[in-house]
Amino acid sequence: MMLSPLKPLPLYVSPVRGESATSLASRIARKNGTASLQSFCADMSISYRALKVGDPVEIERVAALAGCDPTTLRNWTPHAPSKTNYHLGAEAPRFTAYSRSTIRGCPKCVAEALAEHGPYGPFHLGAWQLTSIRTCAKHQCMLIEVPPPQHHKHSYDFARVVDNMDLKDIQLVAENARSLERYLHNRLEGVSDGSWLDSLDFHVAPQLCENFGLLLVRGPKASRAETTEQQWLVAGAAGYDALRNGPDQMFAALEELRMKAGPGCHTYGAIAGSFLTWLSQREDDAAFNGIRQMVFDFILRTYPVVVGSTVLRIRCDMQQVYSLRKGAKAYGIDERMLRHKLLERGDISKSGKSGAITYRRYPSGETLQQLADETTGLLRGFDAADYLGLDIHLLRTFVVEGLVKKAGEMARNAPYFRRKDLDAFLGRLYRQTRPELEPANDEVSLIAATPACQCSTLELLHLIFEHDIPLRCAAGTDPRFNDFLISVERAKTAIGQSSVGAISMSEAAGKLVVDTVTIRNLVSAGYLSAAPKTAKSSERWLVIDEASVTTFGEQYISAAGLARELRRDTANLCRELYKNGVEPLVFNGENRIIFRRQDVS
Ligand SMILES: [Zn+2]
Repeated sequence: MMLSPLKPLPLYVSPVRGESATSLASRIARKNGTASLQSFCADMSISYRALKVGDPVEIERVAALAGCDPTTLRNWTPHAPSKTNYHLGAEAPRFTAYSRSTIRGCPKCVAEALAEHGPYGPFHLGAWQLTSIRTCAKHQCMLIEVPPPQHHKHSYDFARVVDNMDLKDIQLVAENARSLERYLHNRLEGVSDGSWLDSLDFHVAPQLCENFGLLLVRGPKASRAETTEQQWLVAGAAGYDALRNGPDQMFAALEELRMKAGPGCHTYGAIAGSFLTWLSQREDDAAFNGIRQMVFDFILRTYPVVVGSTVLRIRCDMQQVYSLRKGAKAYGIDERMLRHKLLERGDISKSGKSGAITYRRYPSGETLQQLADETTGLLRGFDAADYLGLDIHLLRTFVVEGLVKKAGEMARNAPYFRRKDLDAFLGRLYRQTRPELEPANDEVSLIAATPACQCSTLELLHLIFEHDIPLRCAAGTDPRFNDFLISVERAKTAIGQSSVGAISMSEAAGKLVVDTVTIRNLVSAGYLSAAPKTAKSSERWLVIDEASVTTFGEQYISAAGLARELRRDTANLCRELYKNGVEPLVFNGENRIIFRRQDVS
């Protein structure tokens, strides 16, 4: 059927900027006294059904009735639907961006229009059909829901349905809560702010802002169903304010949430649950694929996600970062060593007395591989002591004295070592060996030599290096500390040589026929003198002034020495001397069995 061109009706109204064709038609219908928009369309040979879904031809016919510009009217009416999109302004939002069953209006616009134009004044803007437009840009108040008409076919007859609207329900909003809406209006007007969001489809940008903002404002457990329109508005603005600066801002905000959660391993669900759930549910809309992939990549490089698990309904094929324990296991690194290295790098930190770990960043496979290479050949204290065949305390002493080099220290000053440094120490001992020398018959291990020489192991080592005392190695290859043998006599001689006019404690003990403990006590009681040492000497063992030993020996004699001279049994001799009232020498508060020569001669 050919339709005759329509001329303006004698009774018409002028469209408001942004008004939709159905709203305009509804007002003209009311002004012309028809019972409803539907019957008006029938009278004017306009297909009401086609008009409702935004058929451009029917929109043009409405424009003709009102004598207005058809292009502008069409522009602000969701029109020319494809399978998925309706055009509006400079955009073509996907149908999911519209809420076409719920009618919302501005109570202030309606009140003003009623006052100015009567019952055919109240208008409806095309943009108000967008779910993410929740306020009136002119009045900065929430759009409110209009009670639905008795029959849904009258839903677009706006001039009439507003009769049931509660015009007192005015909810003003803060201007800063409208940042997302201002952005959306600009996009509809074809104005770009050059932000990253512009690269997203019109329906993707606000949904992303709102759901990301919901996480920021109401946390990971926020229920979307229980969120009010006002809360959505605030969430949308918060999300927009963050996301307008690009995806890095989104990731930075997600990281901030993770750090705020405090020490320990947190799942991405615990940090961003509501947002991730929403995003994973967008899987059937390809427009969200880019965002989903972006967030998926972020999660994989931020949280330890194991191979085979699904994030945002995408399967993880390669684990990128690891927790401390799993990372240590996967890359064969000692866990304590890895902890130390990550602390050193600042990737993790320890908090409080509990020492709970905060991951600033989880170590990546690359980092772990690097640390594995770096720590290969590193040995912790006990392992290093085992490797050398030493007691850990002795190893610590050697470290302090600089004989064994440590590679570093872990928590609580626990040293760790490079194998080559341990080998260097053994190599130094090995270089003291003289295989060409006849084995001496008093050779003992270095450990066993120390009591015999009355010095510490450390002192013995200094003695060996400073006096170039030859050693012998009892093992073939891979000798350990205890495989090196030393002649006790050679060590003692070296001790004696270490200071002029001095003899070793054991030599002094031999001369006076007592034990070395007694020599030590005689020194501290002042009967014998320790020999002075040169300042540069590193030797720390006690050497005795030989002259003081000689002098002492001229005035005193030990019970054992006297018994030897008299070829008597020591115990019997002592008993006899006591009976005759001979008192032994008293020193250090104890009776050692030493007598004055004048008492026993
Ligand atoms: Zn308004």
